[in-house]
Amino acid sequence: MSASGALRLPSVDGVLRHPACLPLAQRYGREALLACLRQLLDELRSSVLNGQLAAIEIRPEVLAGRVGERLAQQQRSQVRRVFNLTGTVLHTNLGRALLPEEAIDAVQMAARYPLNLEFDLASGKRGDRDDLIEGLIRELTGAEAVTVVNNNAAAVLLTLNSLGARKEGIISRGELIEIGGAFRIPDIMARAGVRLHEVGTTNRTHARDYEAAINPRSGLIMRVHASNYSIEGFTARVPTAELAELAHRHDLPLLEDLGSGSLLDLTRWGLPAEPTVRQALLDGADIVTFSGDKLLGGPQAGLIVGRKELIAKIKKNPLKRALRVDKLTLAALEAVLGLYRDPDRLAERLPSLRLLTRPQADIFAQASRLQPLMAEILGAVWQVIAVEALGMIGSGSQPVARLPSAALCCRPQVSKRLRGRCLLNLEAALRALPIPVLGRIDDDALWLDLRQLDDEPAWLAQLPQLQVDP
Ligand SMILES: *Cc1c(COP(=O)(O)O)cnc(C)c1O
Repeated sequence: MSASGALRLPSVDGVLRHPACLPLAQRYGREALLACLRQLLDELRSSVLNGQLAAIEIRPEVLAGRVGERLAQQQRSQVRRVFNLTGTVLHTNLGRALLPEEAIDAVQMAARYPLNLEFDLASGKRGDRDDLIEGLIRELTGAEAVTVVNNNAAAVLLTLNSLGARKEGIISRGELIEIGGAFRIPDIMARAGVRLHEVGTTNRTHARDYEAAINPRSGLIMRVHASNYSIEGFTARVPTAELAELAHRHDLPLLEDLGSGSLLDLTRWGLPAEPTVRQALLDGADIVTFSGDKLLGGPQAGLIVGRKELIAKIKKNPLKRALRVDKLTLAALEAVLGLYRDPDRLAERLPSLRLLTRPQADIFAQASRLQPLMAEILGAVWQVIAVEALGMIGSGSQPVARLPSAALCCRPQVSKRLRGRCLLNLEAALRALPIPVLGRIDDDALWLDLRQLDDEPAWLAQLPQLQVDP
């Protein structure tokens, strides 16, 4: 006789009546509990029939425990905080810029209460959401007018469509770039209804190339800041001021997509020079577009700034309504822009700038302090050392520039054959922590770049839970 005859799975009611289920029903609701329990019993039925389960495994309290684990798992948010120890500060896949407290407060206010999103409190009439930040952006960039959309890709699409539909857009071959995630300038132009007229070559484009391309069908000249790659060597590029002069001579607007762009000269903090929005406008660009969550350090948004009559045209485009920003973004953006009015304190108050400018000595000291603990937790198989490392700004800003940083470098002391597996196991174990820790594998080691390890207590608190498969 097999054991299957003797063992019987409890009924749904049998488990539900067990006291262990009461708190589950209270916490997750009776319906969710019932659905989860039914599913578990269904899954176990064949194993019980085949005699693969012991009696203890199907006791009501054990089943209630398993249901509880599943319900907890199901309830856990899919949007999760992580530790970004990759060394890339503005990491697109990890949410880019972190907001300052001022912006977080503003978002909370906007989430909790009604607000004057499109309501002019002075006149009591309908307002325009762009008006809430127009004054600040004009002050910070020198622009005549402003409009804001969901992200910079949307800003480029909307601008091209508003100013160049059914006409030709002239652009250098060296600027027909792919930003990533299927955002390619030629495709965006096509979708915007602008006919691409490429000029020059990949490495060299001259003023005469633009000039020769201008014809009665021309609608605009576009310039794209090649933010995620660099061409070095035998290169030529027409300065914005010269290109603007040429465009205006032919009555064409010059659009400049700065990508990241910056409101201030970053070299004052020792960072690589990035074109500023103000300078692009001073040089004569008629419209400049840039991201809210790259070097600006704010929420995801696309800012379009420039000449008043062109902005008015852009705002009239029905696409603007489809691409507009929401109230939470606007609230956060206003707060972040407000911080730029006091550049002297910006690096303390704006998290992205604070992290980007964190001194290497500081990060190295932190790595040295944490090294013994990490070494102890990983055990003898791993060599853990505090080392200098090179990070990146990220989000396509300054692809070649490296940020001098420091890291915990974890190297498995095993044969070459086993090394790859070992590293992947450690990487997976770090990802499985309550707050997943993301590093990078390079040169047969796992690197945890500590530039962004702000919340050291939370990181330390969960470290003892690290379970690395051998
Ligand atoms: C990043 C980037 C974009 C896209 O900006 P998002 O805010 O990510 O939509 C467009 N153009 C350039 C040059 C960029 O660097």
